[in-house]
Amino acid sequence: MTLTVGVDVGGTSVRAGVVNGDGTVLDTARTPTPPSEAALETAVAGVVSTLAGRHRIAAVGLALAGFITPDRRVVRFAPHLSWRDAPVADRLGSRIGLPVVVEHDANAAALAERHFGAASGAATAVFVALGTGIGSALLLDGVLYRGAFGVAPELGHLQVVPDGRPCPCGKTGCWERYCSGTALATTAVELMARDPGQSPLLSRLAAGDPRRVTGQGVAAAAREGDPVACAAMEDLARWLGVGLALVADVFDPELVVIGGGVSESAPLFLDEAREHYASLLTGAGRRPLARIRTAQLGEAAAVVGAAQLARDLVTGATRSGARSGLRRTPRAGK
Ligand SMILES: [Zn+2]
Repeated sequence: MTLTVGVDVGGTSVRAGVVNGDGTVLDTARTPTPPSEAALETAVAGVVSTLAGRHRIAAVGLALAGFITPDRRVVRFAPHLSWRDAPVADRLGSRIGLPVVVEHDANAAALAERHFGAASGAATAVFVALGTGIGSALLLDGVLYRGAFGVAPELGHLQVVPDGRPCPCGKTGCWERYCSGTALATTAVELMARDPGQSPLLSRLAAGDPRRVTGQGVAAAAREGDPVACAAMEDLARWLGVGLALVADVFDPELVVIGGGVSESAPLFLDEAREHYASLLTGAGRRPLARIRTAQLGEAAAVVGAAQLARDLVTGATRSGARSGLRRTPRAGK
């Protein structure tokens, strides 16, 4: 059976996995993400070599948060990594002697859910990963939509509140400032400041420093019934419904998949988000509703999706939306 490697190149660690044709991760390797461009490529080549020493590998797929060219070979810009207009697929390919493909991590995770998880069989679907921010992907008629310049979609930066919370992207009031793990913490801290003493659990967590309040901490406190944490969860549910209704007015999906770390707390917000979504759609009550489900593959999704793209590279399959450019094999000295 053909085995490929998927590599999730994150801001703090490089995580790689050997994946088979069923989407099962057979083996893993990881290393910290170094700051320089050359060291980063050495780190990625290193984890791949480690796995290639233990398995017969046919191709490699990288997943990272950043702008990737539509041919999936060049990293234009990645906010948490050192690559800038870097021909990563060609350089790594000639270095490790295997075909390499690069994909946005949200796209890779979406592909994994489509092949092996919550979006199996879906043709038109929206993927929203709620973590530090919002990672998003769009599957339109079975193909990932990436826009004219490879930058779409950036659903997390739709402005939902004019002059709202500042966003690292340079704008204000972006959706992800109200609907993410970070947003959960921000909202909880705002609510605590407004009404001190309402939240013994979160006050203990903060211990005088609101920066200690994390989205995970708020979710845990909400599970314990903490009133402020529950209110922050309700706020997140409302903003999830608001944003999904906007997105659905543009794309009219059959399915919405909610992933990311926050999705592990879905029982605390998903039903309520569905109600907000259904009531805020244009023509509410008079049109079919998209199903809204949680992702199934968890943290492994980007690795599995990148490995699947690598598989398409060697089998010539187009079912992941691969274009002809994908089938080129890397050549040294290009
Ligand atoms: Zn933004």
